[in-house]
Amino acid sequence: MSLVGKNIDAHCTKCKRLLAHIVMYEVDGAVSRVKCKTCGSEHRYKREKPQIKRSDPAPRSRQEMRGKTASASRKAVNDVPVRWELRQSEMNTEIPVKTYSIQDIFKLKDVIRHPVFGLGFVERVISETRMDVLFKDAVKLMAMNTRP
Ligand SMILES: [Zn+2]
Repeated sequence: MSLVGKNIDAHCTKCKRLLAHIVMYEVDGAVSRVKCKTCGSEHRYKREKPQIKRSDPAPRSRQEMRGKTASASRKAVNDVPVRWELRQSEMNTEIPVKTYSIQDIFKLKDVIRHPVFGLGFVERVISETRMDVLFKDAVKLMAMNTRP
């Protein structure tokens, strides 16, 4: 089915926007030349969208990767409550919950209760005086074994 003489939306090189055009002729069944109904200029038919789609695979995969990276890093932040819930649900009821004090010494997997942040799980002991604690909202760097 020939499109010659039919209306087609195309990007007009003069008007610089998508406008109604008339198909002048086709090459191998593909619209080749169009005439702008607005300014009357004839120009090659630019299939803007398909062109973008054809060159899409690379940029899109990069975009997807960026998206994944972004969502991954978002997850890293957002999964704290999930991890916290999990740790809480897996928590051995026999494990004593220690009240957090800056002077006390805590070790990995200790369960602590902080007056402000609530229940926390020691995820990493960084040094003799520093540890990462998983609280419900965030992993916080906490001081320990420190004389006030
Ligand atoms: Zn035009």
